Parts: sequence; C-alpha cells; structure tokens
Amino acid sequence: MASLFSKIIAGEIPGDIVYQDDLVTAFRDITPKAPTHVLIVPNKEIETINEVTEADEAALGRMLLAAKQIAAQEGIAESGYRLIINCGEHGRQEVMHIHMHLVGGRPLGPMIRKP
Ligand code: AMP
Repeated sequence: MASLFSKIIAGEIPGDIVYQDDLVTAFRDITPKAPTHVLIVPNKEIETINEVTEADEAALGRMLLAAKQIAAQEGIAESGYRLIINCGEHGRQEVMHIHMHLVGGRPLGPMIRKP
C-alpha cells in the first residue's frame, strides 16, 4: 500500500507542496514545530535510512540541494535552520517513508533534549 507521503506526492491527498522535481517532493508539515517546517521526501518510497542503497544516492543528494533552495525561498538561509531525518523507534520516526525535516524561522534551541 502506498505511504501517506506517496499519496501526497501523487496528488491523491492534499499537501502544501513548496518544491517538486523528478527525484524529490517537499511540502509543509501539517503540524509545524517552527515558522518554517517543510518535509523533503524522495519520490521513491523508501521506508527508512536503513533501507537506502547506492541506487538512491542521487535522490539523497537532491534532498540536500532542495533544502538549500527551499531555505532561500523561505528567507531563512541566512538566519539558519536545522535538517533532521528520524529513523526507527529511538529516532521516533512516525511515517515510514524517508523524509527530511527542514525547520527554521526562529532560534531552535538545543538539538536533543532528554525525553
Ligand atoms: P517523523 O516523526 O519524523 O516520522 O515525522 C512525521 C511528520 O509528518 C510529523 O512532523 C507530522 O506532523 C507530519 N505529517 C503527518 N501527516 C502529514 C500530512 N498529511 N501532511 C504533512 N505532514 C504530515
């Protein structure tokens, strides 16, 4: 079954898409944790970083290039931002389709806090 994010990428369910190309799609997180909170997702459905292979190298690289472009679009390139990829249980990954969070627009505080 297609992942939630595959359905957004395919336009089957609504998403606020801010960037899309042949390898990746980026859309606004539905529960933003900061003024800018965008998810950058490979168009190919890969569950977690544990499943990536060399064949995914271009898409993974494109995720970073998209992040740079979106940060500029959002006007946060100079103030700075954080890129996060959660993986598995301890990483608290909820959606099993790789995605990179781009968060910024305010000071973000420490990278990791105690649960
Ligand atoms: P993670 O915990 O890294 O798997 O993050 C999953 C993210 O997906 C969370 O920040 C959710 O707010 C976000 N999310 C869940 N459903 C949607 C949706 N329909 N559209 C956009 N973002 C979503």
